[in-house]
Amino acid sequence: MITDLVQISRLGEKKREENKRLRMHMKSHPVADRRLRRIAETIESEMDCTTCANCCRLATVTLREREVESLAKFIGVSRQVFLQDYAEVTEEGLILKRSEKGCVFLEGNLCGVYDARPKTCETFPNLVRGEGSLVSRMWHMPDRATYCPIAYNTLEAFKGVLGFATHK
Ligand code: SF4
Ligand code: SF4
Repeated sequence: MITDLVQISRLGEKKREENKRLRMHMKSHPVADRRLRRIAETIESEMDCTTCANCCRLATVTLREREVESLAKFIGVSRQVFLQDYAEVTEEGLILKRSEKGCVFLEGNLCGVYDARPKTCETFPNLVRGEGSLVSRMWHMPDRATYCPIAYNTLEAFKGVLGFATHK
């Protein structure tokens, strides 16, 4: 399994188009979700996310109303202060504030609000968990495979299982 983030970025970009084709291949060659999910589970269990935290640096975290309430409560501020200091409104909706270092709650490689983290964080990169079928979530994966080792390695494993032709 490749975990080096420089390599993941280079290989993920190189394979971006191939990974888009993989998504189309999966649509036309259906395989049971549970079989693919098992592969993703194995890869996820082999990855120690505390050595990485790249999603916390790079990905956008959208917030639901109830998450605003629970995060504000968790860090002990009012809803108004939370919205002012820890969130921002963008064209993607309400998101967690970020700096050049990443998410406002990232402390080193660890999450400062882990027990109250938003669902987006809890289920990322959405290969094992997420809404809808795995195939329906695949449209995010060519991008995620450029910065998330779990996503990159899982797509590579899928290719083997699905007999997907790659161009080395
Ligand atoms: S809330 Fe925690 S898990 Fe989510 S992006 Fe921020 S630091 Fe990462
Ligand atoms: S989910 Fe992916 S990007 Fe996020 S910490 Fe784990 S391996 Fe890294």
